[in-house]
Amino acid sequence: MTSPRNTLSCVAGAILALAIIGGCSSTSGNDATGQTGDIQGKALAECLSGQTIPAGSTLNIATTVAPITSIVANIAGGLAKITGIVPEGTNSHTFEPSPSVAATLAATDVVFANGLVLEEPTKELAATNLPKSAALCQLGTAVLPVEDYIYDFSFPVDGGKPNPHLWTDPKLAARYVTLIRDVLVKMDPANAVSYTSNAAAYTAKIDELDAAVVTASATLPADDRKLLTYHDAYAYFANDYGWQILGAIQPSDFAEPTPREVADLIAQVKSSKVRAIFGSEVFPSAVLQQIGRETGVTYVDVLRDDDLLGEPGDAKHSYLGLMQFDYVTMIEALGGDATALSGLDIADVAPDNAKYPQ
Ligand SMILES: [Zn+2]
Repeated sequence: MTSPRNTLSCVAGAILALAIIGGCSSTSGNDATGQTGDIQGKALAECLSGQTIPAGSTLNIATTVAPITSIVANIAGGLAKITGIVPEGTNSHTFEPSPSVAATLAATDVVFANGLVLEEPTKELAATNLPKSAALCQLGTAVLPVEDYIYDFSFPVDGGKPNPHLWTDPKLAARYVTLIRDVLVKMDPANAVSYTSNAAAYTAKIDELDAAVVTASATLPADDRKLLTYHDAYAYFANDYGWQILGAIQPSDFAEPTPREVADLIAQVKSSKVRAIFGSEVFPSAVLQQIGRETGVTYVDVLRDDDLLGEPGDAKHSYLGLMQFDYVTMIEALGGDATALSGLDIADVAPDNAKYPQ
């Protein structure tokens, strides 16, 4: 993945003719606070900075959003204690942990967060409450070069928050798995064999997901692989799988777009001839519903980017279940055949004993 994606995102934003596109300039080497340096290398070093726990003790892991919790649980395979921090169904982009999370963090050996400026309040709480021996691992920041960050309408470069949704892209999720494995093996070498084999089995499942997304996407003519979504959670996916993001509607402050922006979107949807537009289950949008009504386009409002299906303990309450659901939903709504995806075996590779706050 290279920098042209930034250009593509900006082009897509410009087509929408929305008011605030933000800049499209390269951000290489600058983090959200404008500081320069090797951000990716620093994040990777922080991931691997945790101390080895005493043999015979249990690794205490804290995670942020539920998809990351599910991925970590599959690799840990019941050998670690995993506590999610961000409740499912809440806006993870504005989430502020309650003071009680401080107690969880004080007993944590490693935090797995997404990074790319998604979880700043949780990071702040971790900075003052994590033990000195612990690691704060921002997975996305550690695996994605800064020049591959995507900025767009919902995540304008001026706002300093890149689009953080790496996990909806199976190719990037596979990089998360490798890094999580390396961190667990370093901090808890007594269970290295299990972590390594769980990670291999899980990577194989993500590879199957990746192949199924490619197969199912190919049942749509290239010109129909277009996404207009409310929540802007599929930008990295689109780049890696040959989809086009027509646009995302949600402004960076999570308010509703202006009437003028809505009028522009209606014109855009009519001219693009898409068959469906997609809302988010976590962010119900009257505006997207209105756009669907006025354009006669099917409005599908069930996509979800970090709220797993069902309840903890359900077979589909998992990262793989979430991805299968989203991409089956998109491809079928756009007129494609998602059989390759719906036939996937999405069962966890290891017991998921993580605590998912609801
Ligand atoms: Zn999101």
